[in-house]
Amino acid sequence: MAIRYAIRPAHPGAHLYHVTVTLAQPDPAGQRFMLPAWIPGSYMIREFARHIVRLTALASDRKVRIEKLDKHTWRCARADGPLTVAYEVYAWDPSVRAAHLDETHGFFNGTCVFLLALGQEKNACHVDILPPAGRKFVDWKVITGLAPARGTQRGDFGTYVARDYDELIDCPVQMGTFAHARFNVLGTPHEIAITGHVPKLDLNRLTTDLAKLCETQVRLFEPRTKKAPFDHYAFLTTALADGRGGLEHRNSTALMCKRDGLPFAGMKDTTEGYRNFLGLASHEYFHSWNVKRIRPAAFVPYDLMQENYTRLLWAFEGFTSYYDDLLLARAGLLTEPQYLDVLGQTMTTVMQRSSRLKQSLADSSFDAWIKYYRQDENAPNSVVSYYQKGALVGLALDLTIRASTKGRKSLDDVMRLLWARWRNSPASYPGVDEDGIVEAAETATDLKLARAIREWTEGTRDPDFAALLAPFGITCERRAALDQPHFALMGIKTAGTAECRVTNVFDGSAAQEAGISGGDALVALDGLRITPGNLDPLLTRYHPGDTVELLAFRRDELMRFGVKLGTQPPPKFRLKPTTKAPKSALVLRRGWLCN
Ligand SMILES: [Zn+2]
Repeated sequence: MAIRYAIRPAHPGAHLYHVTVTLAQPDPAGQRFMLPAWIPGSYMIREFARHIVRLTALASDRKVRIEKLDKHTWRCARADGPLTVAYEVYAWDPSVRAAHLDETHGFFNGTCVFLLALGQEKNACHVDILPPAGRKFVDWKVITGLAPARGTQRGDFGTYVARDYDELIDCPVQMGTFAHARFNVLGTPHEIAITGHVPKLDLNRLTTDLAKLCETQVRLFEPRTKKAPFDHYAFLTTALADGRGGLEHRNSTALMCKRDGLPFAGMKDTTEGYRNFLGLASHEYFHSWNVKRIRPAAFVPYDLMQENYTRLLWAFEGFTSYYDDLLLARAGLLTEPQYLDVLGQTMTTVMQRSSRLKQSLADSSFDAWIKYYRQDENAPNSVVSYYQKGALVGLALDLTIRASTKGRKSLDDVMRLLWARWRNSPASYPGVDEDGIVEAAETATDLKLARAIREWTEGTRDPDFAALLAPFGITCERRAALDQPHFALMGIKTAGTAECRVTNVFDGSAAQEAGISGGDALVALDGLRITPGNLDPLLTRYHPGDTVELLAFRRDELMRFGVKLGTQPPPKFRLKPTTKAPKSALVLRRGWLCN
């Protein structure tokens, strides 16, 4: 029997949704309800139940007693016949992981607003998505991956359906007045909605570029059928002054981007900001295959009450990060030099941090819940990014396979093998077990890759990028990073608009040696005032080995530090095509970047 949900933005000004869930056949022993503790794709316990303000239950017009069993579970007293639970959800988290509502728009993930009726997880769900009351909301529209029920037009308020609870919470909903466009990818309808004021937005360019990108991805996974793994796809986008984030779903994604990152009428180039936006869209779209369908066994099914541990996020997030930019290049949205620049930047970021020598990618994946998602000022020295270093392992593996097989095989074949296993039996799909990536890589290529992959992921060995890139006619230049004196000479990162606050102190740096700490507010350098914007100009007159006096506030106490400026600046990597590369290298490179 289908479960009936209804959600209404009841008080946009107070950020409150009113939600009801009605069960025709509640558990006779007392129906239990649960709200997820986390949202798949974002590996941190978030305890969404804390945003439920009040909750009541009714059966046959009579109030039913509700008991709280633990932080996210409720049990209703025995009720005969249909049981309705009604509750308010406070929605004022602007991220893609939660729920948000004001008088300009609404956004929610089902994990924040839809109670799960325990024991009825597999039942179909109908959800009435209702508009806010009042004339000023009459133009509001809806965008979601949920399918409209008969009688509801896609884009309108009305009834939407999901096969089960898992699908219901995997289809976020955005509502409001937004810029909107439809486009087609190899026969599959796609749409994008952008909330937030973006003057002169060039929707035409945006959809043309997204269509190219999506088509490249569908062709990668399905070179023969060219069929996307869904019937419809939606990009739910929020444009802001600042911020970046994305969350993947089975047939949609929620994106948050900088307003300046979207194309405007007359914009000719692909700006850094737009490249960033396309990279984000590419990343989340690639997840439609890698993590939403091809999944770690630990996520089949998701346990929404607690942490789900896997040591493989370097493949599910890292390989996705490797492909996000690579596929921009293959789609013609990045030139070869632009793509090599991006790769060089990723190498620079990873290789500048000592964390990569202390934590393996597999350990970082396992501890994502308490480390990657809960980074503090010491993170560059202790937490390796399974995104960025995982992307470099994806690169290393791809280059190894291509060079060893003279371009006949690649990481694409590994992804296609993993994909075929899901596609051939989605209903009984067991997931990728913890050795499954190594196994698939060897099976798809007939190469012995286990040792190298394990050294890169279970150990902390850096891939030898110069040696790996050489057969492709690309040189990997390592230089001293001197462009940011506060980082190069002192080994700190700073932030702040009112004061110059240290955010990170890097291992082995001059600042660490002198005792400067994350959180310190820097106020003077050799007797001159430090402002949020002038530390680099102040430092340009100094050289490695010089000693400076630095004053800072810590806990409101003035501290004095003698800092001997670093003589070993951090490394910076730049990738360049080799002049006069042999033809074989050009063929390999073309196969990699232009496939
Ligand atoms: Zn991701």
